[in-house]
Amino acid sequence: MMLGKKQLLINGEWRDASNGRTQPVVNPATEDVIAEVASATPEDVDAAVQAARAALTGPWGTMSARERGRLVYKLGEQLMAEADEVARLETLHNGKPITESRHVEIPMAAECLQYFAGWADKVHGETVPVKGGQLVYTLREPLGVVAAIVPWNFPLLIAIWKVAPALAMGNTVILKPASQTPLTALKLGEMATALGFPPGVLNVVTGSGSTAGQAIVEHPGIDKIAFTGDTSTGKGIMRSSADTLKHVTLELGGKSPNIVFADADLDAAVRGATMGIFYGKGEVCAAGSRLLVEASIKDEFLAKVADRAKKMVAGDPLNPKTRLGAISSKAQMERVLGYIEAAKTEGATLLAGGERADIGTGKGFFLQPTVFGNVTTDMTIAREEIFGPVLAAIEFTDADDAIAKANDSIYGLASGVWTKDVKKAHYVASKLRAGTVWINTYNVYDTAAAFGGYKQSGFGRDMSMHALEYYTQVKTIWVDLA
Ligand code: NAP
Ligand code: MG
Repeated sequence: MMLGKKQLLINGEWRDASNGRTQPVVNPATEDVIAEVASATPEDVDAAVQAARAALTGPWGTMSARERGRLVYKLGEQLMAEADEVARLETLHNGKPITESRHVEIPMAAECLQYFAGWADKVHGETVPVKGGQLVYTLREPLGVVAAIVPWNFPLLIAIWKVAPALAMGNTVILKPASQTPLTALKLGEMATALGFPPGVLNVVTGSGSTAGQAIVEHPGIDKIAFTGDTSTGKGIMRSSADTLKHVTLELGGKSPNIVFADADLDAAVRGATMGIFYGKGEVCAAGSRLLVEASIKDEFLAKVADRAKKMVAGDPLNPKTRLGAISSKAQMERVLGYIEAAKTEGATLLAGGERADIGTGKGFFLQPTVFGNVTTDMTIAREEIFGPVLAAIEFTDADDAIAKANDSIYGLASGVWTKDVKKAHYVASKLRAGTVWINTYNVYDTAAAFGGYKQSGFGRDMSMHALEYYTQVKTIWVDLA
């Protein structure tokens, strides 16, 4: 157990769970237990809520917006100063290639902190032109205590998407990372404490979704839940938080279509289709998991995609040359293998992969990049989120057929369109029911650009100025002048 035992961060102090329980953290690339973290009880959650509520009126509440922004900015700087170590932790508990954690996701997280830090002193109220004899102005105030409940696929980045706007807008935070990936959230807590964030402003509560998570969702002292994860978990969270009428934003699953027209730059589209599904081992909510290909180029295009998939070999996630890491857990690997079996049974054609991979150690949860052709829209792999490196290719005849097939999903998170025809690209983009449309690219993000779902992919937006709305509320003040 190389990383030892980790405690909860509550009110600026590190403590064990109230009943002393811990839960193991496993490195999915080696199957070793690398740490034990405290498994928070409802009493611990309550202590975190008390601390976060008290912190709202302490030094955090009286700090100027600009000073608050400066502190959030420094957290971004500190994250980059310790990026090597943070990236290593991210790769150890998640199995993602170190190149992705060190050069993509940790820098994006730091940038997100600094972006929202800049907003801290730029969000303000207004004066309102009402009927005579009255002055009306508004104050834009924090919501209060925000709980961020986050998944294991981008453990730190998705946490920061919530924590950064929450803190910049003056809220206090309880962060609950996924059981599989708690290490970088704890590291964030360490950095914030060292930088002088007042006690209780950022609490990190590790533990299970069913105990710690559920206690958070039901606690009357929490004002908002910012959640990313499974659609069914999101529905449960919405139901359970109804009794205390919490603000809720949900970023949920996807089954995103990546649409390739015959007139596209096909080599670029092949790269986009493979990167769109195999980045992050396909454990990406916006993964381009449904590849829609125009019938006239289908065979040629899929041959190229399969060829590229076969060349992607899983490797040690800590090796900087590795482009495909370990699936996050045994359970997730088995789930993905189950979908691969279902695809075969339902008559899809296996074009690449389809099996476990071995990186030469005989250990770890590795899968081959997998591509299925001849998928029809009624098949399980065309409908359900697999959350793994499995691509389902479906053919279409023209733009309207592509749009109909693309929209034939309960989800609407992201989508891609590949064509050189400008008119067609924007026509299709206007018809897709998805929160993001990428034209001639895929899986690109920027902290200034909003990200979030349509339909059962959820509501609310992460990143961008639109996120500010979800971490503040408006107070209207009337003054009688007559
Ligand atoms: P999940 O259950 O939705 O987990 C996300 C977070 O919610 C974790 O921190 C989890 O804690 C917590 N949680 C679970 N049950 C809770 C409850 N009743 N109340 C409050 N919090 C709760 O996702 P998962 O089980 O890890 O993954 C299942 C599937 O969800 C995946 O196979 C994938 O298809 C999908 N998924 C989607 C996304 C996405 O970004 N769209 C992300 C992750 C997973 P614990 O970790 O302790 O359970
Ligand atoms: Mg779950």
